[in-house]
Amino acid sequence: MFGTEDWTGRPVCRQGECTEPAVIAGQWCPGHALGRLRRDLERPEPKTTFKRGATARVCAAGHGCQYPAVGSSGLCGRHERQMERWGRTTPIAQRRPRGAALLRDAQGRKQCSVCLTWQELGAYAASPVQADGLQPRCKGCVRFATYHVTPERYAALVEAQGGVCGLCGQRDSSGRDLTVDHDHRCCPVPRSCGRCVRGLLCNRCNVGLGRFQDSPEMLRAAAAYLTFWSAQPPRRVPAEPPKPRGRRWPKFRLTDEEYARTVAAQGGSCAVCRREPGRRSLSVDHDHRCCATTPACGTCVRGLLCTSCNTGLSHFNEDAELIIRTAEYVEAHMIVCT
Ligand SMILES: [Zn+2]
Ligand SMILES: [Zn+2]
Ligand SMILES: [Zn+2]
Ligand SMILES: [Zn+2]
Ligand SMILES: [Zn+2]
Ligand SMILES: [Zn+2]
Ligand SMILES: [Zn+2]
Ligand SMILES: [Zn+2]
Repeated sequence: MFGTEDWTGRPVCRQGECTEPAVIAGQWCPGHALGRLRRDLERPEPKTTFKRGATARVCAAGHGCQYPAVGSSGLCGRHERQMERWGRTTPIAQRRPRGAALLRDAQGRKQCSVCLTWQELGAYAASPVQADGLQPRCKGCVRFATYHVTPERYAALVEAQGGVCGLCGQRDSSGRDLTVDHDHRCCPVPRSCGRCVRGLLCNRCNVGLGRFQDSPEMLRAAAAYLTFWSAQPPRRVPAEPPKPRGRRWPKFRLTDEEYARTVAAQGGSCAVCRREPGRRSLSVDHDHRCCATTPACGTCVRGLLCTSCNTGLSHFNEDAELIIRTAEYVEAHMIVCT
């Protein structure tokens, strides 16, 4: 019946035996158009489930449609139905079908769930909880959501720093992208307004900075601690001290008696941050350039530190100069940000 015209030459509704003029989209009478619309609305979302690593092309309909194409038409399922029904396509709301995270296009790329662009797998951070082991959002979208740093600004920051950490001057040891560092006094962890971004850091420096709470005073105290101990003679380890020697003897050649004396000498607090350690006891710090692992020889034992300062030092490779640079970095950005 479609295509027939009534006696005035107007097209009539293509629905069955209906003879009403087709005033809606040139194909339907108002009543039948409404009926079809209702049926469309009641129809559930297409439940497309994709196999892991299935390849996909993007819908060819235009309108910014990013749904994967199905069949030979080159259109997504919904645009294919539009085309069959209306002979043309219109924009549709972009919701990704179930399982779309597992799709790969012909170049092996994956589609970001936010910006809907198809990007190399390296553009997605690993995520063991996801079916394909990758986050659904691309790193650029995650970075923007977290730090208000656009991909363009991030690229400019990487370029300005020569692709290396702003503190230690190294690439990230685990091969990860450099982390956006921001002033936590402006924006508490873990988000930034974007104005308090200070630079890009490797993961080790970023964590190390956090251990010293972004505090120039604590960082300078840590550097002073390292400098002090580098000028000290090696500690004399008693060869056969009286028993009991306690649990620190095997790892550090430090008896409970000497440990207690050192705690008292430090006033019960950490040798760097001067805070009392709370429920955990102070850790024995030693020079890792002498003994990379424990058990340590004992001659390289330095002071007693809280867990935070102890791990902070190791994240900065116990490098006093690097820690001073870090303090200066924090101070330099304070003017901008406080
Ligand atoms: Zn009709
Ligand atoms: Zn489409
Ligand atoms: Zn994205
Ligand atoms: Zn670094
Ligand atoms: Zn901020
Ligand atoms: Zn700020
Ligand atoms: Zn401490
Ligand atoms: Zn040693």
